[in-house]
Amino acid sequence: HAKIGGRAQTRFFDVTMTRDLVRRREIEDELRQAIQRDELSIFFQPIVDLETGRIRSFEALVRWFHPEKGELRPDEFIPVAEESGVIVTLGNWITAQAARTAAQWPEDVTVAVNLSPLQIRAPGAALGILNALREAGLPASRLELEVTESLFIEDSDATALFIEELSAKGVRFALDDFGTGYSSLGYINSYPFKKIKVDRSFVSGPNVGLKSDAIIRAVAEMGSTLEMEIVAEGLETIEQVQAVRDAGCTLGQGYYFSRAVPDYLAAMLLSRERETGIPSRKTA
Ligand code: C2E
Ligand code: MG
Ligand code: MG
Ligand code: MG
Repeated sequence: HAKIGGRAQTRFFDVTMTRDLVRRREIEDELRQAIQRDELSIFFQPIVDLETGRIRSFEALVRWFHPEKGELRPDEFIPVAEESGVIVTLGNWITAQAARTAAQWPEDVTVAVNLSPLQIRAPGAALGILNALREAGLPASRLELEVTESLFIEDSDATALFIEELSAKGVRFALDDFGTGYSSLGYINSYPFKKIKVDRSFVSGPNVGLKSDAIIRAVAEMGSTLEMEIVAEGLETIEQVQAVRDAGCTLGQGYYFSRAVPDYLAAMLLSRERETGIPSRKTA
């Protein structure tokens, strides 16, 4: 019995594996054409000042509206793009689009773009970013680049040069998903991060409590000493907003404020806020 069961299980496993692989291959092939076919678009999620409730920045998040598969989430296709190398072309397109959109916003609003490690290590990466800024007419100081700790697993000169070169031009760097990876304070010590984004697992879910609160407080304390902004990710309720604000986070992002929205809605959020002087959501 055990043998038969084992075999059946193996076969079942193989079928799922194959289906997974087929889907990945499909995604890989189609991703190459998706840009030309106009299936990709950039959405923007507000990052809000927890003191005033006003929008300080938007994070650019890529969306793929596939003609047959429907809306694909970046968690599904970004890893495929990374493995196949398409991420370099895709990433350049995302940065260019985000910079063009941000150039239309008021001057004190910045845009944050996520970068994959592979994109950063590609030859001419820094130049590509600077070109996108120049073409869009967006000052370097209005661009933030979000990187995760996975970037530093491989210790590369290319990474250090990229960060140094762009920082010197005024581009700011944010450490994304802080607390989920290696969370080495060494990265914060070695690189000029202006912002730390505390992962949403510290804000909601099974691991939230006295301990997570103490950790956020400690990170916020460090942030204020080192003049770094601390962003709390994944804020869905007013209670969570108040908790991270009390803990010392200066900025917040999450469904409580808004989901990621198309560019015209981002512009609308900004103009409404500026015309009325009233933020769309309360922070206290
Ligand atoms: P991330 O950079 O940490 O982005 C935040 C993710 O959390 C986004 O998911 C956002 O929609 C989601 N989120 C925001 N607020 C809330 C909330 O209140 N509750 C919950 N449950 N989720 C919230 P999204 O857009 O699906 O992106 C997932 C990840 O894919 C991103 O995580 C980022 O690592 C990657 N990604 C997205 N766009 C890009 C891109 O243009 N380039 C690269 N390289 N990676 C990207
Ligand atoms: Mg991010
Ligand atoms: Mg994040
Ligand atoms: Mg993430």
